[in-house]
Amino acid sequence: MKIVMCASEVVPFAKTGGLADVAGALPLALEESGQEGIVIMPRYRAIQDAKFKISRVKEDISYSRIGKNIKVYFIENEQYFNRDNLYTDKNGDYPDNLERFSYYSRRALELLKEIKFKPDIIHVHDWQVSFVPLYLKTLYANDAFYKKTKTVLTIHNIGYQGLFPKEEFPKLGLDWSLFDMERLEFYGKVNILKGGMVFSDLINTVSPTYSKEIQTKEFGFGLEGVLAKRKKSLFGILNGLDYSIWNPETDKFIAAQFSNKNVKGKLRDKEDLQKFCNLPLAKGIPLFGIVSRLAEQKGFDILAEAIDAICNLKLQLVILGTGDLKYHTLLSDIVKKYPKVISLHLKFDDTLAHKIYAGSDIFLMPSKYEPCGLGQLISLRYGTIPLVFKTGGLADTVNKDNGFVFYQYKSEALFKTIKGALTAFQDDKKWSSLVQKAMKCDFSWKESAKQYVRLYEKASAK
Ligand code: ADP
Repeated sequence: MKIVMCASEVVPFAKTGGLADVAGALPLALEESGQEGIVIMPRYRAIQDAKFKISRVKEDISYSRIGKNIKVYFIENEQYFNRDNLYTDKNGDYPDNLERFSYYSRRALELLKEIKFKPDIIHVHDWQVSFVPLYLKTLYANDAFYKKTKTVLTIHNIGYQGLFPKEEFPKLGLDWSLFDMERLEFYGKVNILKGGMVFSDLINTVSPTYSKEIQTKEFGFGLEGVLAKRKKSLFGILNGLDYSIWNPETDKFIAAQFSNKNVKGKLRDKEDLQKFCNLPLAKGIPLFGIVSRLAEQKGFDILAEAIDAICNLKLQLVILGTGDLKYHTLLSDIVKKYPKVISLHLKFDDTLAHKIYAGSDIFLMPSKYEPCGLGQLISLRYGTIPLVFKTGGLADTVNKDNGFVFYQYKSEALFKTIKGALTAFQDDKKWSSLVQKAMKCDFSWKESAKQYVRLYEKASAK
């Protein structure tokens, strides 16, 4: 099959979260399984010739390669994409995001015709590229080139929908009749993800549990009704993890490589992390790690409630993340109070992320909701035991055999589970066996890619 992956961020070129990991790794797994694919993304300022091998196609189009021979096309536009960040600056979302990403989507559809790549499937990710199925079913409805092309939309987080004021609708270049409750209107605003959900041939999300959750009022963010109508076209495929990047045996960012057959290196990684973080070098004290967006979704509300009590336990905690200012302030204050317990790093730092996954004993991921979650998958690979709330992809991947789970989204339950983990940590034999079980879990892309191919086949048959 000929598959086009459209995403607003793709590893290794640009990343703000798990979407980029998926958009970068799935094409590789598909290539391995014999599919023919290309990727299309915007060219942000950070995608420099000096860093990547980039060739030019035409004035506003360039490309690089990933995998064995997958072309990643970049859509260039000085005004829209030559910026430091992807979606936001210090004032919040860029005000012209609708224009930026609708431009990207239309240019992508034109590009495919120019390079004569007639896709069986265009796989779009999240609201930023949900314009693609929308345009295909409207502006391109009678275009012979796309006659057989089907679209699959993967929702990575239904909390981010691309909501814009009604006044921006004309910028889409579509007829006002599309601005109705059945299609693009959402409580008086334009909702781009809703457009993607209505106009794509199949909808997918990133774990089986999350695909069920988003059909409920609690998790659907107002779009549960739209999904209910498309229930038969909704699927949930668990993300895989790119084990060529996340592999403790070959990881160049960590002080000592290790494997499940020889875990000794992990202790050196712990020491290295403690040193880096100016924490006391103590082997017997469990080191907790967090690598996360600092957002309520990620559990920082209940963590904040319990943080004082947590800091009075016998543990250490390293936090790496950026996000809501509220949590930047709150955590900075806590660090001042407990400098020997917490080490805080308010930034996006891939190298430090690797060090935390490798050097921690326990990975804290108390997300309120979690479509799939990659942090827990990475930590499992590094023998760092995840401690999670039972939700979404966390519920599908962590259980009492490979981690710690709490079942009520309350700070008391989180605290109790942390205490339980501390007790478990004291039993060397049991802990080693837990580490072994964690490291042996297989969340590689192989199985997920197979499921995606079946999904594409289903879409093609529609
Ligand atoms: P989400 O996409 O909701 O943010 P995921 O768990 O799916 O959450 O993916 C997050 C990805 O981003 C993981 O690969 C994680 O390691 C990485 N990440 C998150 N915050 C940071 C940070 N501050 N520095 C480096 N990597 C980060």
